[in-house]
Amino acid sequence: MPKKRKSRGRSKGDKGKSGRVQCDGCGAWVPRDKAIKVTKPVSILEPQLARELQKQGALIYRRVVMKYYCVSCAIFQRVVKVRAKDERKFGGPLR
Ligand SMILES: [Zn+2]
Repeated sequence: MPKKRKSRGRSKGDKGKSGRVQCDGCGAWVPRDKAIKVTKPVSILEPQLARELQKQGALIYRRVVMKYYCVSCAIFQRVVKVRAKDERKFGGPLR
């Protein structure tokens, strides 16, 4: 069977099963190795207030939020992009 991707869109190899996580966009249950994981720092303060405090030289604490997205939500929110055929098929270090 022809493959669209070398990894079949997952990173589990021949592991068998992997646990499931819930997508933070739509709530779907997706395999952990297929889900797209995003970590980003989020400030507790409002952006305008944070900017003013930063101007005065204050250090603003940002906590890191981790999110899992299913493939369709990650594409929709532009976390990842659709890649061309030759770019995706043998891409990566292993070739
Ligand atoms: Zn989703």
